[in-house]
Amino acid sequence: MPAKVDMDKIVSLCKRRGFIFPSSEIYGGLASCWDYGPVGVELKRNVKEAWWKAIVQDRDDVVGLDTSIMMHPGIWAASGHIDNFTDPLVECKSCHLRWRADAVEGKKCPNCGGELTEPRMFNLMFKTFMGPVEEEASMVYLRPETAQGIFVNFENVVTTSRKKLPLGIAQIGKSFRNEITPGNFIFRTREFEHMELEYFVKPGTDEKWLDYWVKERFDWYVKLGIRKENLRLRQHGKDELAHYARDCYDIEYLFPMGWSELEGIANRGDFDLTQHAKHSGKELSYYDAEAGEKYVPYVIEPSAGVDRSVLAFLVDAYDEEEIEGEKRTVLHLHRSLAPIKVAVLPLSRNEKLTPLAKEVFNKLCPNFVTDYDDSQSIGRRYRRQDEIGTPFCVTIDFESLEDKQVTIRERDSLAQIRVPIGELKKVIEAKLKGEAFDASTLWATRQK
Ligand SMILES: [Zn+2]
Repeated sequence: MPAKVDMDKIVSLCKRRGFIFPSSEIYGGLASCWDYGPVGVELKRNVKEAWWKAIVQDRDDVVGLDTSIMMHPGIWAASGHIDNFTDPLVECKSCHLRWRADAVEGKKCPNCGGELTEPRMFNLMFKTFMGPVEEEASMVYLRPETAQGIFVNFENVVTTSRKKLPLGIAQIGKSFRNEITPGNFIFRTREFEHMELEYFVKPGTDEKWLDYWVKERFDWYVKLGIRKENLRLRQHGKDELAHYARDCYDIEYLFPMGWSELEGIANRGDFDLTQHAKHSGKELSYYDAEAGEKYVPYVIEPSAGVDRSVLAFLVDAYDEEEIEGEKRTVLHLHRSLAPIKVAVLPLSRNEKLTPLAKEVFNKLCPNFVTDYDDSQSIGRRYRRQDEIGTPFCVTIDFESLEDKQVTIRERDSLAQIRVPIGELKKVIEAKLKGEAFDASTLWATRQK
């Protein structure tokens, strides 16, 4: 089944409406780096907040953490990243371009036809130097995942949080991978944001918890509006499991370029804590008071990319519709993810309407992310709000000056209700929580 929207349309909408811009654009750009614009940053924040709420706030068995990007280099030796986080590369002997060995067919350079070297392993971690001396001893890595910051703080968190196992530690933050072949817009970039949970459990209960988290994470995407038919689960074969994993599932999404990984949920066993105990010389185990025994916990890891999730939500929300003979592009984003919740639109830029419209805006903006727009025709302003997925538009017209009521237009149904200005905040609050958008509510009278 082909995806209904191609990537060019998404990239173009993102640029046009201020979701995502190419990084360093006035300098000609920087390969596969992207900047989030005014509405993009709101969408991204909403995705992270939805994850944090579901994973940390709504539960009593998960706590949060925010660790540094640069960490002791010994951590990456222990985790296996220095030895194993590599791709085989071949280099052309004439033009010196490098290629992923598995992306080249035959022995010739795809660029110039020159001879290629034998494959060499290329580490995907970014390196830099800490302090003023650029020497091996001061070399540090930019983290390629947030997980290791969690493992090395396991003891700190257990001691201070007074929690018992099963216990999860969650973190959102930037990660860096020097990918050989990034691409597909924000799907694969060298700098990206991770949302990772390490869920520590008693060995023997790990399979049950893996199943639990696979279901939990799959349902999260569905709850936030992604259509079930565009999601699928794929269990890793024994030959593709990472060196640390006992078992792993991918949640895949039907992106414009085809089914691709949205999130991985791995059973990492006791690999990480055991490795860090060995390399640091500190014991990393858990005393289970109820069972009266000490063990190294197993860990279940749901690991998602923020940018990848943003892309999936955008693609799934994108629609082109025909309304009374006119085409409109609309993002049917879930209300909780929509960058702007409500737009205040005076019917026209008019000295009589402006003061009341500003008054309405000032009432709403401390409560919801609110936009104010009074330029161009009302039709064009509606279309702009549809394209960025704004659920509600509030229109102030000349009647509003008399009856102190305004019209709310709903993005998906295009239904309109008329509401007293004094009730507006309460009404929008209720609608954002999912209350039906119709005239059945007490103060709402249908306009047409
Ligand atoms: Zn070449």
